[in-house]
Amino acid sequence: MIPKRPLLCERLGFLYCPPWRVQGSSIAGEGTVVQVPELDVVFDLGWCPRMVLSSPLVAISHGHMDHVGGLPYWFSQRVFQKMGVGRCVCPKRLERPLMNMMAGWVPIENQDTPYQVQGLEHLEEVDLKPNTRLRAIEMNHGTASLGYAAIEYRSKLRPDLAGLSQSQLKELRDRGDEITYRLEIPLLAYTGDTQMCPNLLRREFCEAPVVLSECTFFNPNHRDRARVGRHLHVEDLPELMEAWKAKHVVLLHVSRRSSLEEARQRIEEVLSEEDASRVHMLMDHRRNRTRYDQQLEDSGQSHPKMVDGVAVEP
Ligand SMILES: [Zn+2]
Ligand SMILES: [Zn+2]
Repeated sequence: MIPKRPLLCERLGFLYCPPWRVQGSSIAGEGTVVQVPELDVVFDLGWCPRMVLSSPLVAISHGHMDHVGGLPYWFSQRVFQKMGVGRCVCPKRLERPLMNMMAGWVPIENQDTPYQVQGLEHLEEVDLKPNTRLRAIEMNHGTASLGYAAIEYRSKLRPDLAGLSQSQLKELRDRGDEITYRLEIPLLAYTGDTQMCPNLLRREFCEAPVVLSECTFFNPNHRDRARVGRHLHVEDLPELMEAWKAKHVVLLHVSRRSSLEEARQRIEEVLSEEDASRVHMLMDHRRNRTRYDQQLEDSGQSHPKMVDGVAVEP
């Protein structure tokens, strides 16, 4: 008998949540890596699919292997492919151990791979793009762990000055008065691994139009597993979905203990129809493909038909 060949490629998940693409792979305990190309960021790096090399910043949520295993490869490949030095942010407590890890790779590769690792405390921020920053938010996973929110900053005229002429505003500014204030607009939030915690109800999560959230367990008998592993369970979703205004909530980190069909069914059981329609699963390839085809059809665009990753029709 001829043995079965291995799966030729583990498929990557893809969702278009306008204006962001959310792409990567996430299975509890095995690997989580989620890229948002338009924001130049990758959340976690359990392993390193080729496409995530193009993002210059990796935001690591915590030190479990399924979230950091691909990091040294990513640093090394970015330099090898002449894409510049990779930059990684992580919980403060991981800064030194990750640097030690990279130092350990020097004699193995016989190469001094350049890298940048910056530990962040709760609410510390780094630049992501012009006018957009990434804010670290402490989560609760039994180890130092962070979620992240991308926040756009806009400078707005103080409302009490509306109606003044340009020359009057200039006069105020010349006098040293602050005529603008800073408006913070959450763009997208990522939970990392966490159990239910007050920070999940912070404004960054409640107001982000897209939330990428772990949800590891779905079976009603797995509440204990969720509690012990400090993960979210589908029964936490009603409270979160009520608080989060997001148009799109992308669930990650689904355990292989639940089939996608079981998970979808449970989502529909615990949430209202309207809330359930806002929830997607990154690794639900079939539904995501149908959704994307519909998005294409609605836009009037056509893309080449793909078979095994190869375009077969113009
Ligand atoms: Zn994990
Ligand atoms: Zn974890």
